[in-house]
Amino acid sequence: MSNLPLVSKKSPEDFRNIQVDDISFGHGQFNVIAGPCAVESEEQLYHIAEQISDMGIPFLRGGAFKPRSSPYAFQGLQKEGLKILKQASESYQLKIVTEVLDTSLIELVYPYADILQVGARNMMNYQFLKELGKVDKPILLKRGISATIKEWLAAAEYIMLGGNEKIILCERGIRTFDSSVRNTFDLAAIALAKQMTHLPVIADPSQGTGVRSLIEPTSMAAIAVGADGLMIEVHNKPEEALSDGFQSLYLDQLRALLPKIKAQTEFSGITFNQSLSKINI
Ligand code: PEP
Ligand code: MN
Repeated sequence: MSNLPLVSKKSPEDFRNIQVDDISFGHGQFNVIAGPCAVESEEQLYHIAEQISDMGIPFLRGGAFKPRSSPYAFQGLQKEGLKILKQASESYQLKIVTEVLDTSLIELVYPYADILQVGARNMMNYQFLKELGKVDKPILLKRGISATIKEWLAAAEYIMLGGNEKIILCERGIRTFDSSVRNTFDLAAIALAKQMTHLPVIADPSQGTGVRSLIEPTSMAAIAVGADGLMIEVHNKPEEALSDGFQSLYLDQLRALLPKIKAQTEFSGITFNQSLSKINI
């Protein structure tokens, strides 16, 4: 793939770390990112953040600006949501992963985020990708809803060409004919991307399947094919969530899943960057 010189592997063993402050991503370092689809209130986020921190998970996700299919659906708390994220992350020493929806919002979101999420709907917004190339924080780049693996890597190349080398790729399912799942979770894409690029590749089984009961099996499978991390939606009251409650784990389900994730990473010979000391195994 010499036409993508920056993101392509230079040799089969060319895997690189992305450093997020003191935490390493990729090249055998596995991390979990968890949190609600959207920040909904102070009470909701603090409750979830406290639990996530207690589970030893280093990264809290939560959308303050939400890209919704319907303009009438909850669009996120926006700046208020960012403030809640920041306060909760400081209270519980968590790093924040949150979406930036377009170029005009980079400046606003930047100080609140440790990792800037680029959503699937934006993966082909090339002008936006160029702007993200100028940012000095890691970018979590979701795969587009119908993007080929080469298009996904080309999107990463756009960011890298601008000077930002801290990119984490995220498989989040693709649109297919099958309506029994929200998206078709593309496991081979994770394995193939890892063969093509040195960048870390993580999996989002929540958007990837849209089915709560599929989060556990697809998480295990993602690790087995080489994922460097998982991003999982979780909610204190999924049935009342303002977005994606149907695919969000209950907090207890996440707690029960972590030891299984750890065991699977051990089987794969990679390091699980998380202490499970407070979790009863
Ligand atoms: C999300 O992570 O909540 C989200 C909207 O993701 P995607 O861009 O993959 O649909
Ligand atoms: Mn979501």
